[in-house]
Amino acid sequence: MSWSKRSRQARGYDAKWERTRLLVLRRDNGLCQCDRCKGGELRLTPATEVHHVTSKARAKALGWTRAQTDDPSNLASMSHECHLLADAEAQGRTLKQGCDLNGMPLDPKHAWNKGRGAAIAPDRQAKDRAPSLAQSRLYFAGKRKCA
Ligand SMILES: [Zn+2]
Repeated sequence: MSWSKRSRQARGYDAKWERTRLLVLRRDNGLCQCDRCKGGELRLTPATEVHHVTSKARAKALGWTRAQTDDPSNLASMSHECHLLADAEAQGRTLKQGCDLNGMPLDPKHAWNKGRGAAIAPDRQAKDRAPSLAQSRLYFAGKRKCA
């Protein structure tokens, strides 16, 4: 994921996108829809972001219109860390750095994740992944300021 010099509006993240984003987050009950979170018995990972299942770059290459690209059927709510991983996977990259909300490295191969299962392993219990309520509040407060 590289930082674009173009504005959020120029990249298609405008008021229309914000409405779609909120609609998708509501549709998904504010929970992360990634395969790893869905694979758990509980899906309690709060979602704050909306992911393009077929990436915008791929959709552009396929000749999709913006309406097709931003259609709710191509969108899924995700937590920030799952969104980073999904985008990295879509680009054929693996995350080498970065931490989850608990400060644990996202890289499953990181030494800190040895013996406790990968930080993002499908078999990991959702309760282990989900941040505490206090952390969630901090996180959501942080997102609101940035949005
Ligand atoms: Zn997830």
